[in-house]
Amino acid sequence: MDKIHDVLILGGGPGGYTAALYCARAGLDTLVVEKLSAGGQMALTQQIDNYPGFEEGIDGFTLGERMRQGAERFGARTLLAEAHSAELTGPVKKIHTSEGTLQARAVILATGAGARPLGLEREDEFTGRGLYYCAACDGMACRGKTVVVVGGGNTAAADALLLSRLCEKVILVHRRGTLKATKIYHEPLFKAPNLEFHWNSQVTALLGEGRLSGVEIRQNETGKITRLDCAGIFVSIGRSPATELFRGQLELDEGGYIQADETTRTSLPGVFAVGDVRTKAVRQVVTAVGDGAAASHFAEEYLAGLDASH
Ligand SMILES: Cc1cc2nc3c(=O)[nH]c(=O)nc-3n(C[C@H](O)[C@H](O)[C@H](O)COP(=O)(O)OP(=O)(O)OC[C@H]3O[C@@H](n4cnc5c(N)ncnc54)[C@H](O)[C@@H]3O)c2cc1C
Repeated sequence: MDKIHDVLILGGGPGGYTAALYCARAGLDTLVVEKLSAGGQMALTQQIDNYPGFEEGIDGFTLGERMRQGAERFGARTLLAEAHSAELTGPVKKIHTSEGTLQARAVILATGAGARPLGLEREDEFTGRGLYYCAACDGMACRGKTVVVVGGGNTAAADALLLSRLCEKVILVHRRGTLKATKIYHEPLFKAPNLEFHWNSQVTALLGEGRLSGVEIRQNETGKITRLDCAGIFVSIGRSPATELFRGQLELDEGGYIQADETTRTSLPGVFAVGDVRTKAVRQVVTAVGDGAAASHFAEEYLAGLDASH
């Protein structure tokens, strides 16, 4: 408890471990706190093809481990622990974890965000086996096939358009009668020749043996149940940032993400937010990694300012 680290990084995904690599290389005493394993959401995917430098792609778990080892090579350390609460105001920040209370002069929040699930039976069983939460990541797995997209907001619209260029047919299932997505998406969606809409409908069952091969949907007005054969379902009904611990201390946007621009500075001095947990347009491994580098730069600047003021 007595020790005060220079930088505590909460979350060991690509954003967190990139920040750790840069901070440790800059000579800062750096601790990463991670509740599961290195890699974060990345570790859930078998194949990452859009992280540059791996011409054959790489599985997310291995990439996460390599990021951890790269940071630890320069002296960053990892504590496997879950943070339960945080005191982020003041010059010394405190993070209360399952392994005790930790202190640091600067904190980099890298807790990520999770896809909002459908809440259906067999969802875990089919995740990665025909059920996906990211069209940009996994669309290629269904190239040339029929897929279902669930949702009606901007993410679902963008996902449906992207998939309409890759797949034979895209079926958009939306629980309302109109799209919530901004107007800019409407025309291209309605013009796409291979897009079919099921309005006022929701997915009620996931079908298949070992791998998803279809879904059952219910039309909410008529109660009619229809079976749709498909090679994949993309769940695009929103994401939940892991920001509960910081609510009331930091400014969050309307989606619950931490307000921070590309400097990664938050509304509190000495607190930075990187990767999927902060307000941003594109949530991917490369963007989280870019944030990690930026956070280290601004954390160093902050710590140097603090040191000079003593
Ligand atoms: C199935 C899937 C496939 C994907 N495929 C790709 C792809 O092909 N290409 C691509 O670029 N992107 C892909 N993504 C997106 C990419 O993984 C994320 O954008 C990226 O991992 C975000 O990194 P991050 O560091 O911000 O957060 P995350 O990766 O979410 O890491 C956050 C970490 O914080 C930890 N944490 C959270 N709360 C606490 C707490 N209270 N205490 C301790 N630890 C905590 C979590 O356990 C987690 O390890 C995919 C995502 C998923 C889910």
